[in-house]
Amino acid sequence: MADALRQTDIRTLKGIGPAQSQKLNRLGIHTIQDLLLHLPHRYEDRTRITPIAALNVEQGAVIEGDVVQVAVQFGRRRSLVVTLRDTSGQLTLRFFHFSKAQQKGLEAKPRLRCYGAPRRGASGLELYHPEYSLSATAPLSKTLTPVYPATDGITQNFIRRTITQALSLPILTEGLPPLIPNSAYPDLMTCLKHLHAPPEDVDVMQLLAGLDPCQRTLALEELTAYQLGLVKIKAQLSMRSAPSLIPDQSQMDAFHRQLGFQLTAAQARVIEEIFQDLGSKTPMLRLVQGDVGSGKTVVAAFSALVAITSGQQVALMAPTEILAAQHHQTFEQWLQPLGMVPRLITGSLKASVRKTHLDALNRGETEMVIGTHALFQEGVEFSRLGLIIIDEQHRFGVHQRMALRDKGRENQSTPHQLIMTATPIPRTLTMTLYANMDCSIIDELPPGRTPIETRVLANNKRQSVMERLTDACRQAAQAPWPCTPIPPSETLNAQAAETLLEELRRELPDLAVELIHGKMSNADKQQVMTDFKAGHTQILVATTVIEVGVDVPNASFMVIENAERLGLTQLHQLRGRIGRGAKESYCLLLYQPPLGQLSKQRLGVMRDSQDGFHIAEQDLAIRGPGDVLGERQSGEVAFKIADLARDDDLLPQAHRIAQTLASQQEEQAEALISRWIGTVEHYQQA
Ligand code: ADP
Ligand code: MG
Repeated sequence: MADALRQTDIRTLKGIGPAQSQKLNRLGIHTIQDLLLHLPHRYEDRTRITPIAALNVEQGAVIEGDVVQVAVQFGRRRSLVVTLRDTSGQLTLRFFHFSKAQQKGLEAKPRLRCYGAPRRGASGLELYHPEYSLSATAPLSKTLTPVYPATDGITQNFIRRTITQALSLPILTEGLPPLIPNSAYPDLMTCLKHLHAPPEDVDVMQLLAGLDPCQRTLALEELTAYQLGLVKIKAQLSMRSAPSLIPDQSQMDAFHRQLGFQLTAAQARVIEEIFQDLGSKTPMLRLVQGDVGSGKTVVAAFSALVAITSGQQVALMAPTEILAAQHHQTFEQWLQPLGMVPRLITGSLKASVRKTHLDALNRGETEMVIGTHALFQEGVEFSRLGLIIIDEQHRFGVHQRMALRDKGRENQSTPHQLIMTATPIPRTLTMTLYANMDCSIIDELPPGRTPIETRVLANNKRQSVMERLTDACRQAAQAPWPCTPIPPSETLNAQAAETLLEELRRELPDLAVELIHGKMSNADKQQVMTDFKAGHTQILVATTVIEVGVDVPNASFMVIENAERLGLTQLHQLRGRIGRGAKESYCLLLYQPPLGQLSKQRLGVMRDSQDGFHIAEQDLAIRGPGDVLGERQSGEVAFKIADLARDDDLLPQAHRIAQTLASQQEEQAEALISRWIGTVEHYQQA
């Protein structure tokens, strides 16, 4: 984009003072360029008025009518209830937050125009907190109304006004060279204008589905930029030097002997691939993908051993303190017989102990440290860090940002990096998301696992669930029972879990039922997990904290409530907690009826397959364009417009363009990266 846009601060716009600008900053918007690339994530049709009688549940519509009654209701929550009538019928507007002035205004029984999506309420169709205006005479909007990602304190109207203002800036007229010269693609400025202010004759269905040519063009650009960013990181990394780490065969053999099991062929192959990298003088950046239970930890241990026996330090990072503690236990058990002592450093450590550990690390006396990502933010200093292992489990997207964690240390060697993920990543995506990494796949489970039998059951069959649970526990199975997360709050999760705990204790008085959730202290969580692993607890009620890799070989029965609300990948991860021993395992997926067609299909995939890659591919295939916008915010990579489920057919093309740009048009490549990802420094720190 033209330099002017990239360099002009949003504060130069009318009406954007320090307060507003700070709010926009929170959305990642600093410059006019950022603002223009803040794209609508959906559209609302406010071009016509819908008669009340023709409203559909959850379908946004403009209605116009007369206020005929206003009352304050005192129920579970106080609400202001307004009855609105047009010639076709009437409905209720409900406000849970309202001011005296607002109430007064409505009591004057004005004619209103409202926009909202009706839902079924106590009195038939209701609109909760609709946007409304008193002047029903204003002209209707002529085109679709964009809806933007926003945060607290930022209204849609504010964003719309600000973007409209930016769109009329004189600097915009410069135009921009198209991504691919002489192609049929519209240029960037045309696309942006089209998407922020769709023309009246736009193909509405196409736009709503994210398939408008302008949306697709920008998606292609963004995917290309993302690839370029990764290629660049890879190139930078290859210019650095790393310590060459050579395995000590006798130590390897000793370690292997005391493990008590043979490595699978897949593990042995991946370990060999890693050893190749570690021996090189350029830093390794390798992703190990392996389904839950495929045995990634031991692969990490072999890598750590090579680094330590070569005189280097190792840092292992886990996503949670519980997992860090589990890894610490495992590594201690494995490495201590070889004379190495891994240290656990977490936030809950006593300050004096922590300091002792950190000092030892700094002086180079400690060979291995295990902790959470916080390890890197808390002034932990190494004397010769040679290998970083990141157990990311299923968190997409963080890898790239971690990639150059060691930034800015000129002339010093860069540690090797090993990233382990349990996310089965469909092959089409690997190319995009991990273009800067080498990949190894552990595509085999250790022998002796029995398949998990999965059943899909309606929530109202609870009695039968309780019976099965009792039976299973009688046969000494342990049963985790995760309860569904109710986004977005861990507090609500915790409450739901408490309720379930009470129910289970009441219904199953002979069994030991405990609870673990994210609001508990780390020490408490640790205690609960220890009891569960030791078999003192038979049923563990959990919010999804257990999904992140806890290894309890005894657990062989799992119930997941409201399974239809979880993503397939998440379900697969959760289910992977059981079925690790030789015992037969059962997983019950409970759903809240009625089950929609899509959910039925999704749960069917879970019932019929236990192959993480297959499940991930199916998940992508089933989630049609209609469903993707909601999922997009849920993590993975935060693209501005591209959607991997919808736009995956663009990946090969993005890949090709990126390659050409990187080698032939460096300037344009830089511009693309900065436009979509920010400056690379920014990107790495994100
Ligand atoms: P994940 O890949 O999900 O992190 P883990 O590393 O936790 O899996 O391994 C799961 C379990 O399988 C652990 O109890 C581990 O000791 C065991 N395991 C790993 N590799 C093998 C193997 N080759 N043979 C038998 N058991 C193994
Ligand atoms: Mg693991």
